[in-house]
Amino acid sequence: MTPGEISSDSEPMSETKPQTGLPKTLGTALITGAASGIGKATAQRLAEDGWNVHICDVSAASIEAFQQDVPGVSAWVCDVSSPEQVKDVVSKVTADGAGGLDVLVNNAGIAGCTAPIEEVPHDDWCRTMDVNVNGTFNLLREAVPGMKQRKQGAIINIASTAALFGYPQRAAYAASKWAMIGLTKTLAMELGPFNIRVNAVCPGSVAGPRIDGVIERDAEHRGVAPDVVRRIYESQVSMRRFVTADDIAGMCAFLASKDAALVSGQVIAVDGHTETLSFPF
Ligand code: NAD
Repeated sequence: MTPGEISSDSEPMSETKPQTGLPKTLGTALITGAASGIGKATAQRLAEDGWNVHICDVSAASIEAFQQDVPGVSAWVCDVSSPEQVKDVVSKVTADGAGGLDVLVNNAGIAGCTAPIEEVPHDDWCRTMDVNVNGTFNLLREAVPGMKQRKQGAIINIASTAALFGYPQRAAYAASKWAMIGLTKTLAMELGPFNIRVNAVCPGSVAGPRIDGVIERDAEHRGVAPDVVRRIYESQVSMRRFVTADDIAGMCAFLASKDAALVSGQVIAVDGHTETLSFPF
């Protein structure tokens, strides 16, 4: 199976998909782009909390690795920028016998290129919008009718502090994440009367290989050791550490839960409190 291709036999790649008759869960959750990183941590957390979790991801290889680590979660190959593939996945998730989709986490996202605006290739701009914005729209369009019908739902859009502060040389990324905030604000108003909550989570820079790469490049640029740059970056965070995928997963778990029953239309930064984002790359 190649990335972006739905399993031809219309079966999830998991051997252990949930069936009617399984012990009662909190409800059904779908997390996009969840074979790795924040999505994976969120899938693990929601499963631990008692949700019937489905994930999808464009990368079949990553899904296979995910299934080794997180058995019992149904996983689907799906490119969120494809309306057809999204329609197919949402219909399978809602038909798994557990009663419909209760929680949607729009997490799939790409960073796009790092370049001054005049050097951003048109294709790169369009692909970033296609995955981050159109992908979110595709999921919303398929998931919302069922939630409206059942008069319940929690939608969590994973945006970024890059939208709140701006991010030099990442114009497409920052703009796409700001668009997700616009969607969040609008749909919270539109769907509140149907008991559907819509919130955005803005992660700060998450500890891991991506930020390590940024630090390496900046250190080379400045002619200093990576540790020096790391300390500069960490000093921009009030809590003095980068967030982890588990920190984001915890916020998603809260927003999905009944404890957040009256929390909607919020844009919540999970970034250890960062006043500004001034990473050069
Ligand atoms: P990641 O690259 O580890 O995970 C993203 C996943 O999305 C990957 O598994 C990838 O295969 C999948 N994906 C990419 N394109 C897809 C598509 N078209 N359809 C379906 N799946 C697709 O990244 P992450 O750091 O875990 O980021 C998750 C989300 O959090 C993204 O939306 C990202 O923009 C956002 N975010 C991340 C950070 C950070 O520092 N890591 C900061 C702020 C926001």
